[in-house]
Amino acid sequence: MIARVALPVPRAAPFDYEVPPDLPVAVGDRVRVTFGTRRLWGIVVGLAGEPTFAGRLLPVEAVGGASVPASTLELITYVADLSLAGPGLALARLVPAPSKTRAREVELAVPPHAAAQVKTALAARAPAQARVLTAVGEGVATAAELRQIPGGGRAVSTLLRKGILRPRRLPFSYREEEKPINLNAAQRAAVDAIRAAIGTGKKFLLFGPPGSGKTEVYLRSAAEGVSQGKAALLLVPEVSLLPQLWARAGRALGSFPDTYFGELPPGERWQTWHGALRGETRCAVGTRSAVFLPLQELGLITLDEEGEPAYKQEEMAPYYHARAVAERRADQDGATVVLGAAAPSVETYYRGTQGEIEILPLLSRVVGAPPEVSVAPRGDDVIGPILQDAIHRHLGEGGQVLLFLNRLGFYTGAACRCRSVLRCSDCRVPLVFHLADRSFHCHTCGKVVRTPRCPSCGEDRFHLFGAGTERVEHEARRLFPSATVARLDTDTARNRDTILSAVAEGEVQILVGAQMVGKGLDFPGITLVGVVNADQLLATPDFRAGERTYQLVAGAAGRAGRGDTPGQVVVQSDQPDYYAIRCALAGDYAAFYEEELLYRESLRYPPFARLVRMIATGRDAEAKAGSLAERLLGHGFEVLGPARLLPRRGIPRAQLLVRGDESVVARLAQVLPRPPSWLKVDPDPVWLG
Ligand code: ADP
Ligand code: ZN
Repeated sequence: MIARVALPVPRAAPFDYEVPPDLPVAVGDRVRVTFGTRRLWGIVVGLAGEPTFAGRLLPVEAVGGASVPASTLELITYVADLSLAGPGLALARLVPAPSKTRAREVELAVPPHAAAQVKTALAARAPAQARVLTAVGEGVATAAELRQIPGGGRAVSTLLRKGILRPRRLPFSYREEEKPINLNAAQRAAVDAIRAAIGTGKKFLLFGPPGSGKTEVYLRSAAEGVSQGKAALLLVPEVSLLPQLWARAGRALGSFPDTYFGELPPGERWQTWHGALRGETRCAVGTRSAVFLPLQELGLITLDEEGEPAYKQEEMAPYYHARAVAERRADQDGATVVLGAAAPSVETYYRGTQGEIEILPLLSRVVGAPPEVSVAPRGDDVIGPILQDAIHRHLGEGGQVLLFLNRLGFYTGAACRCRSVLRCSDCRVPLVFHLADRSFHCHTCGKVVRTPRCPSCGEDRFHLFGAGTERVEHEARRLFPSATVARLDTDTARNRDTILSAVAEGEVQILVGAQMVGKGLDFPGITLVGVVNADQLLATPDFRAGERTYQLVAGAAGRAGRGDTPGQVVVQSDQPDYYAIRCALAGDYAAFYEEELLYRESLRYPPFARLVRMIATGRDAEAKAGSLAERLLGHGFEVLGPARLLPRRGIPRAQLLVRGDESVVARLAQVLPRPPSWLKVDPDPVWLG
């Protein structure tokens, strides 16, 4: 018998290997083979009697067990095809390899008084174990910090073996108070419609302003699905939104769901994947990569904030969009898909108006009243006088404040006296000064420069300008010294759980946050939201700039006034009449959508066409893109570009956009059956700059 094995080799089709007679091999198994001079693990995508390869075949050397069911294989192959990439690399990136869990955190497995006795007994004989027990105290300690104690690593293992400590299994420590909820009529209608459709592959858009109770609808629908014997998958765009969803799903379902997201350590990723594979997992929550979880009898997938760009994998092939994959699972496995949004992507809403997706409207806030929204000029201060006054008043009344800015770092730009702006030498983007390590960072490639010099004149002193979240935090502390200020962005993500719990418990008065904080989180104590810079996206050369701006302003505004106290929103903008900002201030999605749709139609952008983004990289990128453009034009494609892009990590890049209808990817695949290695093909780009 012949096994067709997908190997992690770029753009390669699966390879034939001989299956030894005594080795049981099935489709979806992980197997080890020799490839050239290397030994690789791959995944069996097919079994056949006859080889497709004429030469002598090498044997399958070892089997590592089942790793992916046939339907997920089909899904991943489909996704890889859309990026004109081979299945091998896609499988290697999306299917986790078996891996042991290492306890990240440990806790006492015995009551504290028993631990105290053990500690006394151990003090002389095994001091390292005693010190570990002291460090764990009555709470929880991370394995990493316990390893800092001399002899700590061994001591932890011993205490785990003796059953005095145990690994902490819960992925999050987030806690909040529970409150009983009776669905309102619109929510009940939505849950009824979804319940009736579970497992039918139907698609819904749950469309309601922030605070209209969408999350509650996902949770009840998931509970319905699980009680019908189906599995449910709840997705959010950002890890920061997971602890809250996870805790609430735990209550709604009676047990905590499994979690799956990029930052999860390999052992836990494998555990969740494996649980799904064996049909044990009935509910999982996660970020975009979780959309591939091989949940058996999957009845429901929900995507909160479906318009968020973070649902798109843009960094490496396959360049999937979680929404597109979820919809594919609807068509393939009959999973019902619920897309939720206060400000849906124009494409999704358009499909709703065309009847492809059923719109379930939630009309009003279930809690609080719509916030009072006002505009303030941006001016010279990061936190201008109007916003300062508002913060002062809300803090005085015991409210919590969210200051939102979608930019990391302290100063976002540095200019020399000779007027050159300090840029990354490899990516050409402006370097951002971070106060935490007093260094300049490239946000594209991650390079850190401690003591830069101006490349034009050699000067080492710079005029610093622009504001990122670090600076907003700094200003907030300076202006409101008695308030507790916390910052939540990717730089502080390590403490995410603690920060979120502190906000939920009212211990933080001012929370400064980047993108993730702007959407989805639900903290009733937040009465004031300040959008520090609503204009930041307007300068980007992207046809979605208007949509992003609307989502940013409306999303941030939606965090205010979720409790009993009326909320207030102050939006700092110098262009309040720009339609996206004007409509967001009024909370009028319909008005925004109408204007945006006219613009998209007049320029034939999505949803009126499909765009495929092709990026040529490396030396002569522009010339290579140019000749590819000519070739595609010769085949009758509509091609925009080539346009030169900023380099990445010193590698030149140029872009083509191919415009067509839904069939454009399939037609491209015919012309480019084996795309060259310098070409990246992104079928659903969300950023074009
Ligand atoms: P959205 O996801 O639409 O922004 P959420 O689902 O987060 O809204 O709901 C906002 C808040 O209102 C949450 O704290 C939620 O628990 C609460 N809530 C939801 N539905 C109801 C209801 N029917 N009655 C009272 N409170 C509700
Ligand atoms: Zn760089």
